[in-house]
Amino acid sequence: MGRTAIVTGAGSGIGRGIAHRLAADGFTVAIVELNPVAAEQVAEEIRAKGYAATAVGGIDVSDRAQVNAAVQRVREECGPILVLVNNAGIATFKKFLNITDDLWDRMLAVNLSGPYYCCQAVVPDMAEAGWGRIVNISSSSWQSGQQFQTHYVASKAGLVGFTKALALELGPAGITVNTLPPGFVDTPNMRDAADRGLFGGTVEEHAARTPVRRPGRPEDLAAACSFLVSDEASYITGQVLGVNGGRNT
Ligand code: NAP
Repeated sequence: MGRTAIVTGAGSGIGRGIAHRLAADGFTVAIVELNPVAAEQVAEEIRAKGYAATAVGGIDVSDRAQVNAAVQRVREECGPILVLVNNAGIATFKKFLNITDDLWDRMLAVNLSGPYYCCQAVVPDMAEAGWGRIVNISSSSWQSGQQFQTHYVASKAGLVGFTKALALELGPAGITVNTLPPGFVDTPNMRDAADRGLFGGTVEEHAARTPVRRPGRPEDLAAACSFLVSDEASYITGQVLGVNGGRNT
């Protein structure tokens, strides 16, 4: 059995792409995901290719007890968790004055507290092994801002700061912590926002304005993630690696 990797929110989009890639790289991949059907489906897709995957569905990363239970189950089934990809996230659009306290709290709970709970649950395994990799999926909007998403951008900018601070603390233990901020990646989440006119233009218009002239693909993020969790990336920590077709430089 290879090293075990947890990818949160891997039932869809970028997380699904990362789960497929890490499985092909030789990791045993655990899909920790809110949607149990999607989690099982992605695990089955991976197993059908001959790689190792397990699904832990029905887990809300904003709930510490659920996170701890999921991590314990993965540890028992697959061994210590040496790679964590904090990908699960939500994104809504609201004019600033229409953001309610509930919406604000939910955004921070999923996008920022979720990674905090997941890291606290797995870092002891990594510290004991003297080797670990954490990749936090933030957003290019942490750098550029995004109208009607003050709550979302605040959560993702927080995740970038969290990454940098944690990297300083965990470096001596052989654990790296980096962030990939995607921008304009073709996923159900992005299509939904574009279809509802929340994106400030069509997908095609955005592609025309993107230096590489296309939307990103989950595979683009997966390739960068594959490198960051490899042995070769042991001297890279606390970094922000933009995967956005040149939209933010
Ligand atoms: P997606 O297609 O909506 O996938 C997100 C996955 O996370 C879904 O399977 C979702 O499950 C799951 N999830 C949501 N809330 C969760 C929770 N509380 N606990 C556990 N799982 C949860 O989104 P995506 O576009 O691939 O985005 C993945 C990450 O990249 C997110 O963090 C997002 O903010 C970030 N990102 C994406 C883009 C982009 O262009 N696509 C740009 C910037 C940043 P359900 O389907 O059941 O809700």
